[in-house]
Amino acid sequence: MPDGIARRAGGRLPWRPAEECGVFGIFDHPEAARLTYYGLYALQHRGQESAGIAVSDGRCLAIHKGMGLVSEVFGDETINGLGGTSAIGHVRYSTTGSSLLANAQPLVVRHRRGELALAHNGNLVNAAAIRQELEEEGSIFQTTVDTEVVAHLVARAGRNGIESAVEESLRTVQGGFAFVFLTPDRLLAARDPNGFRPLSLGRLGDAWVVASESCAFDTVGAEFVRDVAPGELVIVDAHGLRRVQVRPAVRPSLCVFEYIYFARPDSNLNGLNVHAARKNLGRQLAREHPADADLVTGVPDSSISAATGYAEEAGIPYEVGLVKNRYVGRTFIQPAEVSRVTGVRLKLNALRKVVEGRRVVLVDDSIVRGTTSRHIVGLLRSAGAREVHLRISSPPYLHPCHYGIDTSAAADLVATGKAVEEIRRLVDADSLGYLSATGMQSAINGGAVDADREGGGRHCLACFNGDYPVNVAGAAGKFALEGVRR
Ligand code: SF4
Repeated sequence: MPDGIARRAGGRLPWRPAEECGVFGIFDHPEAARLTYYGLYALQHRGQESAGIAVSDGRCLAIHKGMGLVSEVFGDETINGLGGTSAIGHVRYSTTGSSLLANAQPLVVRHRRGELALAHNGNLVNAAAIRQELEEEGSIFQTTVDTEVVAHLVARAGRNGIESAVEESLRTVQGGFAFVFLTPDRLLAARDPNGFRPLSLGRLGDAWVVASESCAFDTVGAEFVRDVAPGELVIVDAHGLRRVQVRPAVRPSLCVFEYIYFARPDSNLNGLNVHAARKNLGRQLAREHPADADLVTGVPDSSISAATGYAEEAGIPYEVGLVKNRYVGRTFIQPAEVSRVTGVRLKLNALRKVVEGRRVVLVDDSIVRGTTSRHIVGLLRSAGAREVHLRISSPPYLHPCHYGIDTSAAADLVATGKAVEEIRRLVDADSLGYLSATGMQSAINGGAVDADREGGGRHCLACFNGDYPVNVAGAAGKFALEGVRR
């Protein structure tokens, strides 16, 4: 199935970079399944295709997963039926493998050391090579997701118990990952040595909690303790929490797009609040690309923070110029390819009362293919806006991501091989300004609220500058593990 509007159903606009996945885990709490459900609810923006929860009652594992939103997959009865005192959960947007129930996570496997559930956010760039090797040795795979490769590696690793088996497998895989593992008697959580994908550790009473984003801790009433460090494996069992630095942390590379677009504004990543980071991006954008205008508006929801930063810095009033329909669910009848504009109109409308006859600065977080931007500019013009000045709170998006974001092939990225003026004409704006890469970095680093944060404010910028922190030569396409060309 070609990547398209149907894959971007739900609250997101079509042709935006798609999220990757969200993970959650909790150890030793009588309401483990229910809290995981709430945690996944908070992480729903990271994946809307499928959801799953695996639980342990201390002796064995149970699992429930399905296609759709967390609220569609789980009801009261399912959550009560799961029981358990420890759990891991996952919300998925497919970055490898099709959107199928078989590919929904957590995966649960039974191997010589017992039962193991695992769930993953990110992309393993050497998964295809490892899988080919394993298949040639006779391994049988049940899914087409890279996560299953790790299940095999754990099952085949040396004879020293589950912890060293997980360690061994984590030393073999390359790329961006935040993993959670659950066995009958322990919870494990790990992050790749570059720290591409976020993962935080929290405390709820005596229970330990891990989540892709700290907003999930707020939802379940847990306290943020710290980020899981790049290259670290955290193990929680009846003896408490301990840590192993499985691989030395290398060039810190938290995905900068987490700040620009993916993460929730109420999350903190590397000690920096996402809303504050976005406001800083907007302020810097206003300094770099001022505009003579009557009002500033942002594309809801992800660009609102940057738009308010722009408005404050420019001294131009911020107004709600676009309204989002929050109730376009996953199951609504998708517009045909020819009427993609309807897809945007179903999700967004311009406020005529606000924009008519006025010069509008429209702030958006990114332009990927350009089609959505053109439609949104068109919405404002049809509502009577006199001028539309498009300002983007990130640099031109030029290179595909191989670390866990589905961003289309380079050929589909509108900025590839085009001058800004050409893109301006394509999106039909009166003017267009992108934030510079240095402006983006200084905006994010300058807005730090925690001077001691790990990573020192250094991020992956590969989709802007092509400088991939981990070699992507072996990275396969989204459907490579399916053995068919899409
Ligand atoms: S390539 Fe871009 S989207 Fe991917 S991890 Fe790096 S910054 Fe994030």
